[in-house]
Amino acid sequence: MKLPADILKDFPSLHAMGMRAYLDSAASSLTPVSVIEAMDDYYGNFRANVHRGMYATSAKATERYEAVRSVAAKFLNASAGEIVFTNGTTDALNLLASSLGRAFGPGDEVVLTEMEHHANLVPWQEAAKRHGFALKCIPLTPDFTLDMGAARAVITPKTKAVSVVHASNALGTVNPAKELAALAHAVGAVIILDAAQSAAHMKLDVRDLDCDFLAFSAHKTYGPTGVGVLYGKKALLEKMEPARYGGDMIREVKLESSTWNESPWKFEAGTPNVAGVIGLGAALDYLMGIGMDAVASHDASLTKYALEKLSAIPGLKIVGPTAGERIGAISFEVEGAHPHDLATLLDREGVAIRGGHHCAMPLMTKLGLVGTCRASFGIYNEEKDVDALVEAIAKAKAVLKI
Ligand code: PMP
Repeated sequence: MKLPADILKDFPSLHAMGMRAYLDSAASSLTPVSVIEAMDDYYGNFRANVHRGMYATSAKATERYEAVRSVAAKFLNASAGEIVFTNGTTDALNLLASSLGRAFGPGDEVVLTEMEHHANLVPWQEAAKRHGFALKCIPLTPDFTLDMGAARAVITPKTKAVSVVHASNALGTVNPAKELAALAHAVGAVIILDAAQSAAHMKLDVRDLDCDFLAFSAHKTYGPTGVGVLYGKKALLEKMEPARYGGDMIREVKLESSTWNESPWKFEAGTPNVAGVIGLGAALDYLMGIGMDAVASHDASLTKYALEKLSAIPGLKIVGPTAGERIGAISFEVEGAHPHDLATLLDREGVAIRGGHHCAMPLMTKLGLVGTCRASFGIYNEEKDVDALVEAIAKAKAVLKI
């Protein structure tokens, strides 16, 4: 369960960026050579649109594009017909809020949590306004986990959907997805997992999780930007209305009305991100080649090391769980330092982290913070990157005289 010893050679940008430590993979991970090559191959050798051409190059592009559905299905233990290509997690969650939201109305409720990324909050707020249903939130406990006692009270027969972040980008917390799925299903609601963060760090098995929908982005799983996956149980996708209209998603169009293609294609209107999907396939193949068990165990040991080192810094507080299941996205605050100032000073030392509200403003409000600093890990990070972070924090504290 170890990563390949020579893994760094797969990531040319690590060297090209000239940093001491890239610790912002929760925002976007770097891209291995195999992904860059797969996308170059498309642009250089079989650059054509999909699902349209009557010629061999287009057929090849279509075949390579469609083959990624099986790769993504294998990654999630789903079937190819359950994989919808999207522009990313935000796009997938918008699709769900828009399409599922239409079937909900006054008296219905959608349950979220206090730790949602804006991508899993704002689309639901808008759908709730449009269709008249209500939003409810599962609160946090003081140890930055979901209050499952409260979840049992918040999820009721009025609940139509429970949409939760699987692993929080702002806290690192991994939420009890199976338990939440059971609570949702017991009241006849669907469960949606925002797996934007978890997909890069742990094995995802949608059958075992028993989730109805799950979304993730390629750019956080070592793939290209602007593309992602929405998994949906086949029977549910078939019942759902499309959220976008145009070419490719139709069966028959008359001037007055139209009928839809089968799922998953009815959710993919217009020319898709062909190169992006091919890159996504290469990224998931790359991860599966390494093995998600090895990825998860590397993340766990680096996280443990970082939590120990960071916790020993005077005035530094970890904002997130320090025990239990979590991912390597570690938020912290340093007494007397604004997160933006600290992140800027760390950049001067060649250490790239994120400082801010992490697109989770309601969470920051709840915690009474303007934001946090966040160091997050990818498969190319090592203990020496954490050491660089710790040294850079000491220097920044000296500059700030704190
Ligand atoms: N959810 C979570 C938990 C995230 O971390 C992110 C990305 N920061 C998103 C959703 C949105 O992902 P994307 O920007 O790739 O659409």
